[in-house]
Amino acid sequence: FNHKLQRTEKMQIISELAASVAHEVRNPLQVTRGFLQLLSERTDNQNRVYMQMAIDELDRASGIITDFLTFAKPELDELVVLNVAKEIKQIEGILSPLATQLGASLVVDIPEDLLIMGNSSKFKQAFINMMKNSVEALNGKGCVQVWAYEAKDKVVVHIFDNGEGMDEQELSKLGEPYFSTKTKGTGLGLMVTFRIIEVMNGTIEFKSKKGAGTEAIVKFPAVDRSSLPDGVGA
Ligand code: ADP
Ligand code: MG
Repeated sequence: FNHKLQRTEKMQIISELAASVAHEVRNPLQVTRGFLQLLSERTDNQNRVYMQMAIDELDRASGIITDFLTFAKPELDELVVLNVAKEIKQIEGILSPLATQLGASLVVDIPEDLLIMGNSSKFKQAFINMMKNSVEALNGKGCVQVWAYEAKDKVVVHIFDNGEGMDEQELSKLGEPYFSTKTKGTGLGLMVTFRIIEVMNGTIEFKSKKGAGTEAIVKFPAVDRSSLPDGVGA
């Protein structure tokens, strides 16, 4: 009993630390990247190669923060009633600039009354990793659609993109640490996503076709709205 209590305290400290490190480290990384970019525009070819290598490594460091720590929050293990539409709307706000920059469109259509039990930070981390993959898979043309509904006491969320898709071998490697087909990928995003969905008693399934697109289907036990006190989950 005592042992468990200590573990929780330790995890609390670690997640607080992770959150502040992620926050504090991302800014200087971006600033350094900016200056390197500026320098590389004013230098000879040989040095430009080195500067590009440095920029790529900075991007890799930023990628690790995004995949692991974007939403790291002190209350990491708190389970509350989550409104799925509200959570995903927040992710949409964060991802829209990236989507626009990459020439992709992001369409979210989720009814307001879908409730699940979970942790807001973890939920957002799981879904940003999936939705970011979809945006990246479009390679500048196409669209990501996210929609959800309730069926048989489950809340079902679909994330669909008409991007590059995966073959069977790639599909079977999803969630494996360090599996990535991207030059600047970490191969850690889906590993984190799968773990979070498992902890929230959810399931995840991927369908994909090379050259056609990918669909992720995530299911969580639904929270019965009538069993809640007034105002919860609003
Ligand atoms: P990363 O994005 O850093 O590569 P992830 O764990 O997020 O790592 O994804 C692992 C790999 O799975 C990607 O590199 C890509 O090959 C594949 N993948 C994931 N989602 C999609 C998608 N929506 N469309 C096509 N490939 C995908
Ligand atoms: Mg990813």
